[in-house]
Amino acid sequence: MNTMLLAEIEDLLEGADDRFLFSRADEIRKSSLGDCVYLRGVIEFSNHCVKKCAYCGLRNPNSAVRRYRLTKEEILKATALLPEFGIGTVVLQSGDDYSYGKEFIGQIIQEIKSRCDVAVTLSLGDRREDEYRYWRDCGADRYLLKIETFDKGLHEKMRSGQIIEDRLDRLYRLRKLGYEIGSGAIVGLPGMDTNILAVDILALSRLELDMIAVGPFVPHPDTPLGKELPGDLMTSYRTVALLRIINPCANIPATSSLAVLNPEGKATALRSGANVVMPSITPEAVRACYTIYPGKNTNFSKAREEVEAVRAIIYQCGLVPSSSKGFCQRNES
Ligand code: SAM
Ligand code: SF4
Repeated sequence: MNTMLLAEIEDLLEGADDRFLFSRADEIRKSSLGDCVYLRGVIEFSNHCVKKCAYCGLRNPNSAVRRYRLTKEEILKATALLPEFGIGTVVLQSGDDYSYGKEFIGQIIQEIKSRCDVAVTLSLGDRREDEYRYWRDCGADRYLLKIETFDKGLHEKMRSGQIIEDRLDRLYRLRKLGYEIGSGAIVGLPGMDTNILAVDILALSRLELDMIAVGPFVPHPDTPLGKELPGDLMTSYRTVALLRIINPCANIPATSSLAVLNPEGKATALRSGANVVMPSITPEAVRACYTIYPGKNTNFSKAREEVEAVRAIIYQCGLVPSSSKGFCQRNES
């Protein structure tokens, strides 16, 4: 791991040397990973959630959301589009919706694996270890569980009583079970300062993650943080760049929250060290209801439009969309 110091990271986050930061991150992305950008098709199969994260529009107390759950058939139908779209990974994501039980999720993973040659990433939140083990046995390849922030006080305030040790423990267990693991942070959560973010960058890097997802906080009007300011875009790009410099081989997405705050957000992240994009392939009838923040999935009414738009962005950056499963290079070598 690169040995950047906390003070150095703080200075760079505050814009001490953007020219160095962005060009170094781009160089490292190119020399470690080449010009391929991996596509991950995200199926947001349920927006029900038992949790009350202060930042998220899907939080349980928000009665203004039109809630939905996709059936197994609907999930499989959406997944069947992946080969045609040239996408090598499906990400199954939902709120923490425990009405989808262990066996049911397991059946979905097995059916996907028997029908398509794709990697399966799960992003289902906090579940039991026996569930994680079973899904891994059914063929799941990766699990994404964001820490959001390592600052104990802020974490507990934002995730309403959830404790950081539990989230971290789950990540360690997932790694032991053989998953590629991903985590990340929300940049600019209300109460986050430069020091907290710099500590988050170092702490995420120490975990030696296979994927690291960071994007700015986007306020949702129907949450307790609805009147707060969004996370700063430049700070978000700098965070992507710093993570790339410290983690040359990690898969780092250009997240959709960047694009919600700026139409150029994904392209700028790809020029700052990101090497993954995650278009939503959620079916047309429900995609606009996955409102973790305003603007999510509303630019495109159809999955196909969104996939075409991200391909165009990749080419515009001089990069090449890849249909491979895109495992972390560290694990391939
Ligand atoms: N429920 C699962 C969980 O929390 O891990 C997965 C789904 S959750 C919607 C996926 C991610 O959305 C969270 O990890 C969080 O980082 C992000 N998110 C939620 N609300 C957000 C907001 N207002 N701004 C930026 N990111 C947000
Ligand atoms: Fe639920 Fe995840 Fe949103 Fe928290 S971030 S409220 S767990 S969907």
